[in-house]
Amino acid sequence: MMAKIVLWIVVVFAVLFGLRMVNVAKARHRADLARRSGTPPAEPMVRCVRCGVFLPQADAKPTTGGYRCGDAGCGQRR
Ligand SMILES: [Zn+2]
Repeated sequence: MMAKIVLWIVVVFAVLFGLRMVNVAKARHRADLARRSGTPPAEPMVRCVRCGVFLPQADAKPTTGGYRCGDAGCGQRR
């Protein structure tokens, strides 16, 4: 009887621990993505010189005139 209660407590703790691990993994994954693209977690925003849209620097393409967004239609429309 007592063993069953202990087992349930263990199960509850395991679930809580699992949920926490998922959250940590998510946060770490986000940090990894930011690190891989060479930007700090607080992503600096840059402005596309062609269409004026703001986007994270990680997604922007640096050009001679400034940053450009990755939109397929950007820059081709004009
Ligand atoms: Zn653009």
